[in-house]
Parts: sequence; structure tokens; C-alpha cells
Amino acid sequence: MIIRNIWAIGRNYADHAKELGNEIPSEPLIFLKAGSCVVQTTEVVLPAWTVEVHHEVELALQFDERLEVHKAAVALDLTERHFQNQLKAKGSPWTLAKSFTGACPLSSFFAVDTISELKNLDILLSVNGQLRQKGNTSQMIFSIDQQLEYIKEHFPVCPGDLLLTGTPAGVGPLQRGDLALAEIPGKVRHEWTLR
Ligand code: ZN
Repeated sequence: MIIRNIWAIGRNYADHAKELGNEIPSEPLIFLKAGSCVVQTTEVVLPAWTVEVHHEVELALQFDERLEVHKAAVALDLTERHFQNQLKAKGSPWTLAKSFTGACPLSSFFAVDTISELKNLDILLSVNGQLRQKGNTSQMIFSIDQQLEYIKEHFPVCPGDLLLTGTPAGVGPLQRGDLALAEIPGKVRHEWTLR
């Protein structure tokens, strides 16, 4: 299925909002990554111009033909934090920081019968064998149901599109040569080499 758009929510775990010094949002903060940012291999090539690319491990959902969710995966919402901080300070859009080539490494999908199966999943990211991020989907500020309702109400969601549901605390930089392992235990795991 072609992935046209990647809808993503910012600051959806309170501990992550705090670590970047952001307020807890009162309504969902949605931004876009281009569908063509998706990388489904085991190698991620960071663009030469990037300065500080951060990992954000996230539960990703895919919309089917009826815009229902019956597939999920683990993704990295790669973020160029150096430029994002500059853009945020100017009040400018985040596109450069969030939607660069290779900015959405994605695992294979696992099947989902009902959304309630996704409400209490651990989500982990290790880099070079060291645990960096650990959260649980029960800690989301806006639930998956609330996110789905919000984006369908406001945006032209297409079959195949992804929803990235936010990242827990522990984001940090990736270097070329790193091995990043993302896992939702019991569901999916995927390892990428950074180049
Ligand atoms: Zn994110």
C-alpha cells in the first residue's frame, strides 16, 4: 500500500514534552512528514547536511481502505534537532527538521484486530545495545482513539497513510555507524544501521 502522508503528533507523552522544555498541549499538535520519508530497509542514510539527528521511537499505525486501523509497526520519527530548535525559535515550520530524506525508518507491520490491543504496549529503543527510550502506550496524553478522531476531522487522510503516535522520553542523538534497535515486545522489532 502506498504511503502518501505521515501524520504525526508532537508532545504526546508528558515526560518527553518536559525533557524538551515544552508545555503539555491542550489539543493535539499535529505535523506532517512526507510519505516518501519512509525507509523499510535495515540501513538509514543520514543526509550530509544534518548536524544533530535525534531518534524518537514511536508506535506507527496504518490506515486501510476504510480508514480503519488494522496494521501497526514501530517507527523512528527522526528529527534534526539543531535545525528544529532554530526553526522553533523563529516560529517557522518544522519541515526541514522532520521531513528530510530517510526521516521515517519503519519496521514490518503486525496485525491489529481492535485499537484496544494497542493501549498497553511497551515501546523501547536501544542504541548500540544501550537502552535509550522506554515508555508504554498507556502514558499517552491523547489516546489513539482521540488522535484518530482529530486527524480524520481535520485532514485529508488517505488509505495507506501512517499515524505516528508520539515518543516517550529519552530522545537523543544518533551517529553514523550506530545500531538502533526498536522494539514493541511480543509484536515487532527492527534494527537499523546508521550511515
Ligand atoms: Zn515524534
